Amino acid sequence: MPARLVSLLLILALPASSRAGADLPLVDAHIHYNQDAWSVVSPTEAVKRLRQAGLKRALVSSTDDEGTQRLLAVAPDLIIPELRPYRGPGDPGTWVRDESIVAYVEDRLRAHRYVGIGEFHVQGADVDLAVPRRLVQLAKQHGLTLHAHADADAVERIFRQDPDARVIWAHAGMEAPDRVRGMLRRYRSLWADLARSDHVADGKVVPEWRSLFMEFADRFMVGTDTHAPDIWRQVPGRAAWMRAWLADLPPDVAEHIAWKNGEAVLGAIAVKQP
Ligand SMILES: [Zn+2]
Repeated sequence: MPARLVSLLLILALPASSRAGADLPLVDAHIHYNQDAWSVVSPTEAVKRLRQAGLKRALVSSTDDEGTQRLLAVAPDLIIPELRPYRGPGDPGTWVRDESIVAYVEDRLRAHRYVGIGEFHVQGADVDLAVPRRLVQLAKQHGLTLHAHADADAVERIFRQDPDARVIWAHAGMEAPDRVRGMLRRYRSLWADLARSDHVADGKVVPEWRSLFMEFADRFMVGTDTHAPDIWRQVPGRAAWMRAWLADLPPDVAEHIAWKNGEAVLGAIAVKQP
């Protein structure tokens, strides 16, 4: 039997939810285009790969911010820009105590439009230091979402600083499903990106995560996390992997996590250059 016919028969044999999964649009909430990727993947090539992967929109940040601006210039319909408070690869480890970060962030906020500040890394009580506090204030002042790679403790502290903050919790904090559930129940303006892999085993959604996705179908978004140049090669493959585990969920839940939540939380904001 010709291979094409075999794959057609296989597709027809799949349940309707899986068929829908094959061309499910995605809004990817975790893309970086860092300086180390610029010479490996040009902005045009990067955008091509995002489109090949079937991404409808991508929340993009970069170290430094120039990478985000380059992608945005090529594909303003695709790229949702957020501002990362990093100028170089040393900043993630030191920014929380580096006053000069505030001036960098303020300068960029004056020059460009963003939907959020992030992704930034912070743990526990460090988020109460002066520099992270200032970021939380700037987000409030500019109506921006915070994208935090943080443990649950740091996220709670952000909401203590600003109970009205909007937070996308990168990698769902790499916390266990029960901890994530407690946080989502407590904070209504908290969403989580799923740039992690432990919610899937053998291509199926792990039961504890499944019940969490059913309870909070409107609070999760997918994420690839192109933190290293090498991962840019895997963007279409990772999108296919996402569609495979999303097809294991009820179609309505899958659509929300795949793109509807991302569109609702991020996509509604028109991003124009000032
Ligand atoms: Zn990241």
